[in-house]
Amino acid sequence: METVTVQKYNLDEEQEKKEIVRHYRALLRALKPRLKKGDRELVRTAFEMAAEAHRDMRRKSGEPYILHPLAVAQITVEEIGLGVRSAICALLHDTVEDTEVTLEDVEREFGTEIAHIVDGLTKISTVIDSNTSTMQAENFKKILLTLADDPRVILIKLADRLHNMRTLDSMSREKQLKISSETVFIYAPLAHRLGLYTIKSELEDLAMKYTEQDKYREIARRLKETKRERTRYINEFIKPIKEVLQEEGFNFEMIGRPKSIHSIWNKIKTKGVQFEEVYDLFAIRIILDSAVEKEKADCWKVYSIITDFYHPSPERTRDWLSNPKSNGYEALHVTVMGPSGKWVEVQIRSKRMNDYAEKGVAAHWRYKEGNSTVQESKFEQWFSQIREILNSPDSNTLDFLADFKSNLFTEEIYVYTPKGDLKILPVGSTALDFAYSIHSAVGNKCIGAKVNYKLVPLSHKLRSGDQVEIITSNKQKPSEDWLNIVLTAKAKSKIKDALKEEKRKVAMDGKEILERKLEHVKASASQYNINELVQFYKQPSPLDLYYQIAVKNIDLKELKSFHVLGDKLEPPKPVKVVEPVVDEALHKQPSKKDAELIIFGESSDKIAYKLANCCRPIPGDDVFGFITASEGLKIHRTNCPNAAQLLAHYGHRVVKTKWVKNREISFLTGLKIVGMDDVGVIHKITNIISGELRINIAGLTIESKEGLFEGLIKVFVHDKDELEELFERLKALDGIQSISRLED
Ligand code: MN
Repeated sequence: METVTVQKYNLDEEQEKKEIVRHYRALLRALKPRLKKGDRELVRTAFEMAAEAHRDMRRKSGEPYILHPLAVAQITVEEIGLGVRSAICALLHDTVEDTEVTLEDVEREFGTEIAHIVDGLTKISTVIDSNTSTMQAENFKKILLTLADDPRVILIKLADRLHNMRTLDSMSREKQLKISSETVFIYAPLAHRLGLYTIKSELEDLAMKYTEQDKYREIARRLKETKRERTRYINEFIKPIKEVLQEEGFNFEMIGRPKSIHSIWNKIKTKGVQFEEVYDLFAIRIILDSAVEKEKADCWKVYSIITDFYHPSPERTRDWLSNPKSNGYEALHVTVMGPSGKWVEVQIRSKRMNDYAEKGVAAHWRYKEGNSTVQESKFEQWFSQIREILNSPDSNTLDFLADFKSNLFTEEIYVYTPKGDLKILPVGSTALDFAYSIHSAVGNKCIGAKVNYKLVPLSHKLRSGDQVEIITSNKQKPSEDWLNIVLTAKAKSKIKDALKEEKRKVAMDGKEILERKLEHVKASASQYNINELVQFYKQPSPLDLYYQIAVKNIDLKELKSFHVLGDKLEPPKPVKVVEPVVDEALHKQPSKKDAELIIFGESSDKIAYKLANCCRPIPGDDVFGFITASEGLKIHRTNCPNAAQLLAHYGHRVVKTKWVKNREISFLTGLKIVGMDDVGVIHKITNIISGELRINIAGLTIESKEGLFEGLIKVFVHDKDELEELFERLKALDGIQSISRLED
């Protein structure tokens, strides 16, 4: 809700009234094509009820408060595409929470449907005002629940948020930051998932305006400066296409617009490029006025006309005509080489498709009579998935949120059951994800799958068009490492539930063992004693203690050294343990200074890591970080024999990594050198390494056979440059046949 102030602004009462009426009339105009008999009166009643209820309230800016619900209603109708009933809800959205109006009043006046939506809107706004991340996650969950209940609640809430973002200027700096980050965190991803692309970009841009003011202003300014140049290019690009389209008798509209400020900034940040390299990125949109039965064929016709003029990039053609996205998006995208060698993306779609693209889920209410059954069932699928995840009893909310959010943005694949039923999964989903998408009982018992009649493991990545048959066994049980195999939020939460249940069962055995042993030392199994033991063995909870006992990680032999007073346990006095001294010199490999050598992603945070033994990277190598289950972060060379597999199967566990200069630490690496066996060859080699280049040798073995020698040399180098210099120098020696870097 807004903070109410009595700050005066510069309109007098008369002017204010006029202003309010002007906004009200604009809303009626927008609604006009959809007003049925009696609707006009209903809208008027809602407006009057809201205006009366908010009569003495003002926004931070000093404006009468009623202008806010009016604006939200306008956005709901014009930008989201909802109808009369939603407009009424938007007008009333802040009344029940902030004024004397009750839900009963709304129900009496407008019926249960509208009262239900207003109730949802009230509930969302009462939970949204909080600061901790757990709370935010809880809120998000609640928001999704209402969404699954009636999507209009969340659509109107998005309109509300959009208007608040548009008018954020008059808020305090602190509020601006809080509301902006919440917008990026929750609302923009939701808008994206609901197919409201235009609103999503505007929300992101507005948020960036407050969270990264300088960057925002700079990009906005430079976009303005380069506008002419861009317009000229767009015109040059579309001229020939336009002519042919007209000749062919198409009714169409062509728009070229630059990427949003936020997406330009994202590119600059993630790709490390300059503004100059991305400012001219834009998409040309061709919107055809075609009859529904001809629209797909027309889109392909336009595709063929465009590619007559400009060469397409085959791997950047996206056919969302045959397979619309699950949020309803349909279009044909093609990226072609435009004049002066620039890639230009062209989006081809019909008017109807464009409506979906801009209004997303909301467009359903409009095309309900049309051929939108496919669309609708996809939404239904998505909503039912959300409901299912939300209803799983004790899944951790933060985990859930992290998983769910990652699912909001991903692209999708389409796979089929043996009976031909379609399942939509995020790109990167595995056979195991598919199993869980059918039912958690199928997932929990899954031992493998047949993909297109071929046997594959659980971790097999699916591709669009695959037909998948799940193979189950009653002996199967989910294990911890399954969490690394699956991608979908649903599968993750089901596996976690199953693991928790399994752990609980095992722990019960441990509890029995503990109770027996306590009896043995004549102590009771009281809460007090259990807590003493939990502390002594440094376990997070009694359940964990029982579990560790059951799996024999804790054998309880220390129990003998406890004192028993009455039936209470008293832990033994701690004995000092002397840590063995480790000879630093033996561990010349990076130890303490590790963290200073590697930077992850864009952040300058220093994180502990280990270098992978399989490829022994050294500074200068192209590397990536990989999050392992047991050993934290490992650094591999991108050309490591294991890299492709890691990157392909566990893309989500890969961290972007680069080196920073550090001359103090050297790294162990190995060379294999082959050459003519010659007296003194070892001397020459070692002389170059340790004599001239002053590189430390860690080990050297040389074998000669039939006039050739093969040497394995281990050296400590500082970085790749140093290693390369060593290569060059050794290569220059007489009789050296080959030198290569050892992989292991
Ligand atoms: Mn509001």
